[in-house]
Amino acid sequence: MQTASGYDSGNIFAKIIRGEAPCFKVYEDQHTLAFMDIMPQVEGHTLVIPKFGASDLFSLPADDLAATMLTTQRVAAAVKEAFAAPGVMIAQLNGAAAGQTVFHLHFHILPRFNGIDLQMHVRGMGAKEVLAGHAERIRQLLESH
Ligand code: 5GP
Repeated sequence: MQTASGYDSGNIFAKIIRGEAPCFKVYEDQHTLAFMDIMPQVEGHTLVIPKFGASDLFSLPADDLAATMLTTQRVAAAVKEAFAAPGVMIAQLNGAAAGQTVFHLHFHILPRFNGIDLQMHVRGMGAKEVLAGHAERIRQLLESH
């Protein structure tokens, strides 16, 4: 894995990229990977990451950032349709002071519904069979477009 200087490749998302840890994968290409958040703040909470090792928004080269944003746009559209969400929130945290807990750059895709608040950040684990089903639902939509 190519990395920015100072990047710690022991984090969980680096392990997922290397295939050393599992994930409920939604999409993958040469530069990016998308998978279900294991502690969803709402049904359909999906993460998009670059395969380049960058801890935050400021340390990712421009080409990888462009690829990551395109994947975020594409996957967010599929998530929106899969969950019939009237709104979609994209969130991205830089630094512990901002609430970042995994130090590999990632974009949160959060379907939003009128009157439904988000669950707390990094709290309850999602049920594996539910996450697997959601990943499959999003994958099918991506494949059909
Ligand atoms: P951050 O706080 O850094 O913006 O977000 C990290 C996100 O990664 C959290 O929403 C958390 O639920 C998620 N997360 C932490 N560990 C894992 C894991 O092992 N697998 C997956 N799929 N998500 C994880």
